[in-house]
Amino acid sequence: MADKETQVVVIGGGPGGYAAAFMAADAGMQVTLVDPGENPGGVCLYRGCIPSKALLHAAKVIFDSREAEMIGLSFSGLKIDHNRLRKWKDDVVAKLTGGLGQLAKQKKIAYIRGEAFFEDNRTLRITTDDGQKSSLSFAHAVIATGSHPVRLPGTDIESEHLLDSTSALDLKTIPKTLLVVGGGYIGLELGTVYAALGTKVEVVEMTEDLLPGGDKDLVRVLKRRISETFEAIHLQTTVKGMQEEKNGIQVTLQGPEGEPRKQLFEKVLVAVGRRPNAGNIGLENTKVKTNQRGFIEVDEQRRTAEKHIFAIGDVAGEPMLAHKATHEGRTAAEVIAGRNVMFQPAAIPAVVFTDPEIAWAGLSEAEAKEIGIAFKVTRFPWGASARAATLGRNEGLTKLIIDTDTERLLGIGIVGPGAGEMIAEGVLALEMGANATDIGLTIHPHPTLTETIMEAADIFHGSATHYHAPKRKK
Ligand code: FAD
Ligand code: NAD
Repeated sequence: MADKETQVVVIGGGPGGYAAAFMAADAGMQVTLVDPGENPGGVCLYRGCIPSKALLHAAKVIFDSREAEMIGLSFSGLKIDHNRLRKWKDDVVAKLTGGLGQLAKQKKIAYIRGEAFFEDNRTLRITTDDGQKSSLSFAHAVIATGSHPVRLPGTDIESEHLLDSTSALDLKTIPKTLLVVGGGYIGLELGTVYAALGTKVEVVEMTEDLLPGGDKDLVRVLKRRISETFEAIHLQTTVKGMQEEKNGIQVTLQGPEGEPRKQLFEKVLVAVGRRPNAGNIGLENTKVKTNQRGFIEVDEQRRTAEKHIFAIGDVAGEPMLAHKATHEGRTAAEVIAGRNVMFQPAAIPAVVFTDPEIAWAGLSEAEAKEIGIAFKVTRFPWGASARAATLGRNEGLTKLIIDTDTERLLGIGIVGPGAGEMIAEGVLALEMGANATDIGLTIHPHPTLTETIMEAADIFHGSATHYHAPKRKK
């Protein structure tokens, strides 16, 4: 006999886990949510999406104030009180996680602050933060344990100068120099924050381009701009060694040509990807399976090989994004409630919150080519957007991938300030199966950046108002 029992237990209180718990409670089930945090929130709220976006907002204010000089406004003498900035960021996190705690209470969810471990396929051992152990039996479980950062192979040193995303977000100091290892989401976002705060940031990326797998047209625009704000970008470069020094870390870098070279950085941030948290939760005591990369295998309803155990979010596969976790969590809870639903999104949007932002959804040009589908690419450069001109930001681009035969939208990519907000329109268009005519005939407010989506669709038919595009051959 277990110490306690519950109808649904959710393991992990991130955006996947709390969404599953809230939906299950709303559906009338008795729910227990287990997470080590003081409140629900997980990586996303405590040490991911939210603190990074709070700091990126500060970065945007700094960049905007510098750029304002071009239009005759100068704000001289920027002073950064980094303790106050950190407190503001921490307050944002506390407000949101506190709100989630309140919601959990209102929904009568039993929140246990602790860690769960499968003793068998019906029982968890729970270890609370004060070391107490108890057992909990369940009818259904949702595994939402998230992911953790990968360590840089072969260069493991213990050093206060070595940062991961969590310690970089702590903002204990603003270093003079920072090496970011990994030119992906985290490296570029946190590199942007520190560059704005005055740090000389260099990025090392082992592949040929930043954001590998990202659309080249979009990445080109971002790269052009961050080449100005970052000190250097080293592509096809890896870190061969690290040595702790009094004032930082001596890093040995190996580029595409020549001998390795050594350089001292005050701090080094490693952001080379994340791995699922599936290894130490007792899955061996169940029939739940993981794949070669360590993700839990699930079907379209997010059921594992144990039909009453579900897995969602980062632990259940890529993309490792909060909104994907949330939607999976809601699907799993609905399935447990007896509804016949599947996780079958037409598109999962991705946004990199750099300056400019990059966002995409649906098929990229490269993916459309690989599938062998007949498609046309339309590009609306923001040089032709009135709104972009009023913002002094003409470098952006809106790009659509459109099925040549059906004229349906297959994919959308945007680079430019606000791309992360704009992409939702593209996702809705993809979900609704909209075609170029639907998008072009939808009246977009003027002057806004969203008009670039409408006009990119108009280009498909050969006539956009603010851009001369050659007529489409019949
Ligand atoms: P998580 O949020 O990782 O939560 C898992 C929770 O489970 C954690 O609280 C963990 O402590 C807990 N847990 C683990 N093991 C156990 C156990 N045995 N028992 C109980 N609890 C356990 N995504 C975006 O979409 N947008 C962004 O802007 C964005 N920014 C990011 C910035 C950074 C710096 C990082 C690191 C990530 C960012 N992400 C972003 C990714 C996003 O954080 C994840 O995709 C998202 O948090 C995944 O949600 P989840 O519910 O799967 O797991
Ligand atoms: P990432 O996969 O986005 O980028 C890692 C980068 O490191 C890649 O470009 C990779 O080629 C490079 N790399 C790997 N090994 C290397 C090495 N030895 N030397 C140099 N470069 C190396 O991973 P991340 O930036 O750590 O972020 C993890 C995940 O978190 C992301 O994939 C994303 O799913 C999520 N995330 C999302 C957001 C967002 O939605 N805005 C923000 C941050 C994180």
